[in-house]
Amino acid sequence: MIIVNLDEYKVLKKYDSKEISREFTDTANIFSVFKKFFPVIWEEKEKIINTPNMYYTHLPFAFISMAYIGGDSIPLGALLSLWQLGLFTRPCPGPDKQQECEGQILVTKAGGSPLSGTCRSYGFCPVCGTESRLENSNMRKYRIESKKVNLRSSNYYRRKKTIKGYKFSWKGLTPGLKNIVEVKQHVKPLSFKQVLKNII
Ligand SMILES: [Zn+2]
Repeated sequence: MIIVNLDEYKVLKKYDSKEISREFTDTANIFSVFKKFFPVIWEEKEKIINTPNMYYTHLPFAFISMAYIGGDSIPLGALLSLWQLGLFTRPCPGPDKQQECEGQILVTKAGGSPLSGTCRSYGFCPVCGTESRLENSNMRKYRIESKKVNLRSSNYYRRKKTIKGYKFSWKGLTPGLKNIVEVKQHVKPLSFKQVLKNII
């Protein structure tokens, strides 16, 4: 269960387009902007997940990288889907690792070697704001978990469909149903700034 601060949500929901743009200065850290707006992003996750050009929005800080195999960016909708499934999360150790926190660390990136098993992961807790880096994560687990969501749009847009058409037979072409693979146009993802303007 991922909890967000609803008071922060109400304040952020009142931002206008100019105020959102102001957050994206040349030197802005996109991860900090993401953390700040997380209450709105989380409350609006269904809209993001179900809108392809928001789902595939690129986040520079979200990826999985594996030695020898390569890596993948984790787009916005995929990241939210993972967290919604309870994946890429772990209990928050609390701000000073003494005090308990009811929140979850939401992992945004993981990297390492699936062969040696060494892995580092990094994430944040939306409840207490703790940013946590873990040296001994399980790379294999992250790799398996990341495959439960679509990381690339080609998967999302290719689907099997039955249509009325013609079949070729010894009599020539005869009407009949045929199975095709529908490949829709490639998605043009919105920028993260555009997504915020769409959900606020
Ligand atoms: Zn916490």
